Amino acid sequence: MKNLADSSPTAADISVPTDDVSALDRWAEVVQSVRDDYLDENQHFPWIIGFSGGKDSTLVVHATFDALMSIPPSRRTRPVHMVSNDTLVESPVVIAHLDKVTKLIRQTAEDLGLPIIVARTMPNITQSFWVLLIGKGYPSPNQSMRWCTDRLKIQPTSEYIKRHISESGAAIVVLGVRRAESNTRQRSIDKHQNLRDSKLSLHSELPGAFIYRPIVNLSTDDVWEILGTYPAPWGGTHTDLFQLYRDAEGGECPVVLSKEEAPGCGTPNSRFGCWTCTVVEKDKSLQGFIDVGNHQYKPLVDFRDWLKEIRNKLEYRQAYRRNGRLSFDTNGKHIPGPFTIQTRKLILERLFKVQQEFGDSLITEKELDLIYQHWTAELQQEKGLADG
Ligand code: SF4
Repeated sequence: MKNLADSSPTAADISVPTDDVSALDRWAEVVQSVRDDYLDENQHFPWIIGFSGGKDSTLVVHATFDALMSIPPSRRTRPVHMVSNDTLVESPVVIAHLDKVTKLIRQTAEDLGLPIIVARTMPNITQSFWVLLIGKGYPSPNQSMRWCTDRLKIQPTSEYIKRHISESGAAIVVLGVRRAESNTRQRSIDKHQNLRDSKLSLHSELPGAFIYRPIVNLSTDDVWEILGTYPAPWGGTHTDLFQLYRDAEGGECPVVLSKEEAPGCGTPNSRFGCWTCTVVEKDKSLQGFIDVGNHQYKPLVDFRDWLKEIRNKLEYRQAYRRNGRLSFDTNGKHIPGPFTIQTRKLILERLFKVQQEFGDSLITEKELDLIYQHWTAELQQEKGLADG
């Protein structure tokens, strides 16, 4: 078997679309190419598709479905994992869509005998958004202290990939990234050139992982045209997806696999992020749903706005850091510590209220247990210090 890691980098080898080729012709090329790559015995490692439920990763799964259905069952020997991540504070609209689609995909793949394994990853519960914010008092994340992306998004998916790398020697991570998404995305794609004679590039942070981008050269218009033309191979149409984008005013929170890609998480372009995201100025996605009449999301948006608002108010924060020390920046300005225990209690009370108004669970029992444990440990420590 050819060792991909031994190949030296060369220029990207996927042709740039020309105007005389229609989107549907380009789609036929994508499906053919996915079929050829699936059957390529030189890189016979499992495929792991990062599925966010957004338009681009939906198209990648669609192409894989079409390609697999054109391959005789005896040659469908490579497992294809379709992995979605749930941050546990996922936008309720997105998670509902993800649940519905992944269920359909799982059932259809099973009925058709396709080697697709549908998986869901989640953060380690001790590192969840609520446990760190309400339990340990981490201030609501912002651009300079974005403690959430790595724990909620990168680590869970990376752990899944690493597990399969250790089982199979390597894994091919299939992503719906496209040059036309943004200049930043284009620069990042061009930086990671393909390995010689291959459409794969090395993952910058996961040894043994290769990146495969089957729709890298499709434009955004191509993606919509293809999704609007062809029915979803797992049944029905992609109408829900169109509706989702229309109501959320576009944008998506893509699968995030490395710190390098993380700037895309929690920016105005990633409107399908966590509903609690205080890194963005406004939650345009949920606001979009409220504007078209889904008023049940209003308490969530108000709560997020309040979390963002209290972040830098000194009365909500401890003077000391968690290590018991006072901290100052290079200009000598005091940097406050975590949220006080009183603030954390207030946040939890308000979260319970929002949960009641919203009518669905927003925090798990396990998270609550861990939160109370953190509070007890901290109060005991404080008492111990006070008693001398
Ligand atoms: S969407 Fe916002 S809260 Fe969620 S991981 Fe990204 S930056 Fe953090």
